[in-house]
Amino acid sequence: MTSKPDHEAGANLPYGRHSVDEEDVSEVVRVLSGDWLTTGPEIRRFEQALEEFLDVPHCVAVSSGTAALHCAMQACDVGPGDEVLVPALTFAASANAALYVGATPIFVDVEPDTLLVDVASVSERITERTKAIVAVDYAGQMADYDGLNQIARERGIAIVADRCHSIGARHARMSTGSIATASAFSFHPVKHITSGEGGVVALADPERAAAARRFRNHGITTDHRERDRLVTHSYDMVDLGYNYRLTDLQAALGRSQLRRLPGWLARRREIAARYDTMFAGMPWLVPLSKRVDRDHAYHIYVVALKLDRLTCDRDKIFEELRANGIGANVHYVPVYLHSFYRKRLGCQPGLCPVAEVEYRRILTLPLYPAMTESDIERVVATVDRICRKYSCD
Ligand SMILES: *Cc1c(COP(=O)(O)O)cnc(C)c1O
Repeated sequence: MTSKPDHEAGANLPYGRHSVDEEDVSEVVRVLSGDWLTTGPEIRRFEQALEEFLDVPHCVAVSSGTAALHCAMQACDVGPGDEVLVPALTFAASANAALYVGATPIFVDVEPDTLLVDVASVSERITERTKAIVAVDYAGQMADYDGLNQIARERGIAIVADRCHSIGARHARMSTGSIATASAFSFHPVKHITSGEGGVVALADPERAAAARRFRNHGITTDHRERDRLVTHSYDMVDLGYNYRLTDLQAALGRSQLRRLPGWLARRREIAARYDTMFAGMPWLVPLSKRVDRDHAYHIYVVALKLDRLTCDRDKIFEELRANGIGANVHYVPVYLHSFYRKRLGCQPGLCPVAEVEYRRILTLPLYPAMTESDIERVVATVDRICRKYSCD
C-alpha cells in the first residue's frame, strides 16, 4: 500500500489546464492531409479571426508569445542604446525581449494590491533614453493604459502590451490597437487558448505590421506562397529577421480554440467570483484587487497571504497545498532577482520594494474552465485547513 497525503480527496488539480476537443483534432487532421503544413492559408484565416476578435486592424501570427514580444520591440523601433521600462513582477520574457533588440530593461515597481505596473514608478524611472514601456496585464487584468498613454504620448514613447494573460479583456473606451503601439499574446497550453506553441502581435499601424511580418520571416519581403502567386523566384531581404513562423497545423488549432474562448472567459470569471466570495471571510489571505473601471480575463487567480497572521512562510503553505493535490504556483519572482539579470545588469535586491514584498506572499490557485464546483470547494477548504493549522490566533 502506498501512503496517501492525509485528507486526500481526489486527483491533483493543476493551476491551469488546456482543453482540446474532437473539433480541434479534426481541424488539425484536415490541415495535416492538405498541401500546406506551414505558411499556407490557415495562417491568414487565424489572423483574420484574431483581428475580428481583438478588434484590431493587423494581427501577425508567430511561433510563441516570446517571439511576439520580440517582433513588437522591433516594430516599435527599439534598439541599442534605448531603455525599456518593464514591471518587475512578470515572466522573464517581458524583459528578455528588450535585450534581444539590444536595449536595456529598466525595472519598475508594481501596485501592491493588483500587481499591475505602477504608473508613478514608471514616471520616476523615465529618462530621455526611454523608448518603450512594457505593460503587463498581470493575471488577466488590464494595466492602467489611460495613465500609461498619458505619460507615453507626450514623450513619443511606445507602449508594448504584454497581453499573454489577458486575451478577451477589453478597455472601456480604447480598442486593442489604441491602448498600445503593439500587443503580444501567447498560445502556450497554459494560456486561455492554445496552438501548442504560438503567439500573435496585434497592431494598428500598417507599416509596423509589415515590419512584424518581415521580422517573422528572416526580414524577407514576400513569402513562398506570394512568390508562387506572382510567378517569381526573386525576393529581397531588407532587415535581419528570424524564423518565427507559426505552422498551419498550429494556426488551425488556434482558430478552432478561439471559437470557444467567449464561453471559457465567462466560466473563468464565474470561478473567480466564486473564489472571491468564499475567500472573503478568511483572515489569512486576500485575493488581488480588481479595479472597477478595468476588465479582467482571469488567466490566473492570485491571493496574497497575510504573513503576520501566519506562523509560517508562503513556501510552507505552497508545499502543503501541493502535498494535498492542489497545484498552487507562484507568479513571479521579480525578474531582476534571477541570476542572469544580477550578472548582466548588476541588479540588486531593493530595486522594486513592493514587488519583492508581494512576491514573498503571493500564491496562484487552480483556475481553468473545466473546474467543477466541487473542485473549487476543495481548493478553498484545503487552503482554509492549512492556514488554520499555521494560524497565529
Ligand atoms: C506566457 C507568457 C509569455 C511568453 O509566452 P510564450 O508563448 O511561452 O513564449 C510572456 N509574458 C507573459 C506575461 C507570459 O505569461
